[in-house]
Amino acid sequence: MLNPFEKLNCPPKVEDLIKIVLGRLPKISGNSIKDREIRRLIYYDEQVKRYLNFVNSFPRIDNLHPFYKEALEITAGKSVDNIKICLSIINKTSLTASSILKRYISEIRKSDETLANKLMRQAFGRVSSLLRRRKDCIDWIIDVTKSMKKIKSIDPEMPTVIIAGSPNVGKSTLVSKISSAKPEIANYPFTTKEIHVGHFDINGVKVQVIDTPGILDRPMKERNQIERKAINAIKNLNGIIVFLFDISQQSLYSPKEQFDLLREILEFNKNVIIALNKIDSKDEKLYDEVSKMLRENSLNFMEISAENNIGIDELKEEIKKRVLEMIKQ
Ligand code: GDP
Repeated sequence: MLNPFEKLNCPPKVEDLIKIVLGRLPKISGNSIKDREIRRLIYYDEQVKRYLNFVNSFPRIDNLHPFYKEALEITAGKSVDNIKICLSIINKTSLTASSILKRYISEIRKSDETLANKLMRQAFGRVSSLLRRRKDCIDWIIDVTKSMKKIKSIDPEMPTVIIAGSPNVGKSTLVSKISSAKPEIANYPFTTKEIHVGHFDINGVKVQVIDTPGILDRPMKERNQIERKAINAIKNLNGIIVFLFDISQQSLYSPKEQFDLLREILEFNKNVIIALNKIDSKDEKLYDEVSKMLRENSLNFMEISAENNIGIDELKEEIKKRVLEMIKQ
């Protein structure tokens, strides 16, 4: 299942739609004045129907995968109930606008030719002010949809390898090393940073691999509500986690800080592969401290260098084993 918002067509925002109509009206002609004014209102009606089509093709919120439901709430900054209310307002507004336009069209048909232009302008004014009254709602849902469309590459149904760890430990480097093609850069509504999404194939099963900058890289207590939701969304992915430690001289975080983060992640997903990264430039003291902490907690680990391809084949084998076990369940 791909992003359910990806193919959804976004109509223009209210002021833009009115501008489109205004720009087009003078170019519409007809066999008579009445015919011309009717055609103009028919054109407006076609434009208004874009809102109706939009609402009708909006993914059914109750059927969304929990990952996308969380994403929608975060992007919107409001609950799904608010979104549903707004969608029904847009639906009602476009139906009302359409019926106003139809009423005026039939009035023009019946009226004297000299009144046709005046009636058309009246209809235009009424419908435009109706749309403007609902502008907040319409424009907001359009903005939310545009952001949702950008979450291009995450497929919540696909087995997922999530690369986690403190900032700068080598997450995005690892995504590129274990993906078969160049990772895509994707937007994720929970972070201002871009995430990398790569893919690889395990016995014919496609697996996605994502890094998590700004998401799984800080302790829970430092997080705001949005980030907590982001973590919830990640919990909804069908995934195993590769947790990286940086044991080089350049490490920005102490062993304890990195370990505390691991502990939090283990609370929500036990399927974690731990790897000490940057083994090519390891700091002996850091290495000893980290490995001791892990051993004391009976946690196995691998040693890799994402950048220099050390231990990457072994890591891939381990990922493969876990993914196959996960699929079997
Ligand atoms: P992220 O913030 O966790 O995604 O980390 P990046 O993948 O952006 O890597 C941070 C820095 O660490 C970059 O300068 C990488 O070149 C470097 N780096 C990543 N993996 C290794 C490694 O195995 N060895 C060394 N020496 N540097 C690495």
